Amino acid sequence: MLESLPELRESLAGAVIGPDDAEYDAARVCFNALVDRRPAVIARCVRADDVAAAFDFARAAGLEVAVRGGGHNPAGHCVLDDGLVIDLSLLRAVEVDADARVARAGGGATWLDFDTATQAHGLVTPGGVIGSTGVGGLTLGGGIGHLTGQHGLTCDNLIGGELVTPDGSVVKVETDEDLLWALRGGGGNFGVATRLDFRLHPLDGLVGGKLTYRGADVREALQRFREVVARSPRQLSCQAGLSLDDALTPTLWIAPCYTGSRADPDELRMLRAAPGLVEDGIGPRSYFEQQNLFDSGYGVDRNYWKGHFVRELPDELIDELLARLGALGRPPGGILIESLHGAPKDVDGSTAVVGFRRAAFNVSAMATWVDERFDDEHIQWARDTAAAIEPWSFSGGGYVNYMQADEPIERVRAGFGADAFERLQALKRRYDPENVLHRNQNIPPT
Ligand SMILES: Cc1cc2nc3c(=O)[nH]c(=O)nc-3n(C[C@H](O)[C@H](O)[C@H](O)COP(=O)(O)OP(=O)(O)OC[C@H]3O[C@@H](n4cnc5c(N)ncnc54)[C@H](O)[C@@H]3O)c2cc1C
Repeated sequence: MLESLPELRESLAGAVIGPDDAEYDAARVCFNALVDRRPAVIARCVRADDVAAAFDFARAAGLEVAVRGGGHNPAGHCVLDDGLVIDLSLLRAVEVDADARVARAGGGATWLDFDTATQAHGLVTPGGVIGSTGVGGLTLGGGIGHLTGQHGLTCDNLIGGELVTPDGSVVKVETDEDLLWALRGGGGNFGVATRLDFRLHPLDGLVGGKLTYRGADVREALQRFREVVARSPRQLSCQAGLSLDDALTPTLWIAPCYTGSRADPDELRMLRAAPGLVEDGIGPRSYFEQQNLFDSGYGVDRNYWKGHFVRELPDELIDELLARLGALGRPPGGILIESLHGAPKDVDGSTAVVGFRRAAFNVSAMATWVDERFDDEHIQWARDTAAAIEPWSFSGGGYVNYMQADEPIERVRAGFGADAFERLQALKRRYDPENVLHRNQNIPPT
């Protein structure tokens, strides 16, 4: 196979990287350090024809295919042993039509690329909270972030694009409503998106940042978070996270993002007044500053995530979460609690396959660690924590964007619902009948 790499190099306008190339090791790294795989070839595509040529090459050489956007998926779906990676990291331009309020993003654009292009016009679409996450992967799985309450899930703002299917056909997404429905949450199952088009919204500034609480009072502060999001106006998104500090003291952060016109909204005052507050980092910010709240090394930590969308966040669940936080006897990583109040509930559910918009929160055990000797313990912690959350589960399904590769298909199906899953399978038969694109939260054709 390696002998035929020059042929692939000839047919691609982008770059081809093999194991003997200097960039190989850097090009196969993904966000999750738990994943260490060696592809046979990495095809860096810069246009739809390149993607079609890469699919042809993989078919002729009998190679399995993976698709790489921003490389953030915790399952490590973007890289594989001995196969071909369709790498979109050179396809990152974002064009903005400010009058039409539309952005067209290359299939490998990151949120930093996207926000840089759109904020130059004072416009946004609700995206991910870390700049290096791929627009493609995040959108195709749903998309929850700092503007979810205001403008819905990222996929609710997807209005079209261009897809290359494994037989090399180029499909205009906006002309096929079924396909657009499937791409709003159904993942990378139907083709490689070389372009994704989004609706944009004006945004000048916001009040945001982070509040940090510590000690026994985090229980009450989390109850306050629950009260605030329940009464929240559309102009306030709000997420929270639990962790342990090095002294094993519980810590809670709450990250509100308020885009309304009130100078000091009640909801922010309620959060500030909750007990246990040790740091108040809330104030006027630019959208860029808000998008920089959370930092994250790439390919540094080992990660194993598992969770549930939940119907509610009762005191009993809060107590379970606090108990699980201490269960490992050292800082386990964290528990992320994303509120789905506001705009996701306003959207006509029939326009997108995403099945979780009616849930109250997405609660995820995010085990992170560095030392590989602790792999089993941290993985077990995340699994046990998800099991503890399960009695409050909205549908039994999890968030495809946070799933590891070992999730059973039942969890993927439950996330969409049985009828929607069947409709996705029918579309899979139309666009990828051989299931070439199976390194994802897979929707098998049959
Ligand atoms: C640090 C970090 C922060 C995150 N923050 C958020 C957040 O704020 N909100 C949120 O909702 N999620 C978030 N996520 C989860 C993230 O949305 C998913 O992991 C998503 O899959 C990442 O997309 P990617 O393109 O970076 O990943 P990759 O690993 O490159 O891609 C994942 C899969 O998506 C598909 N894919 C990607 N691009 C394309 C494309 N152009 N065409 C077809 N298929 C494609 C492929 O199946 C690919 O295997 C975060 C993850 C991490 C690690």
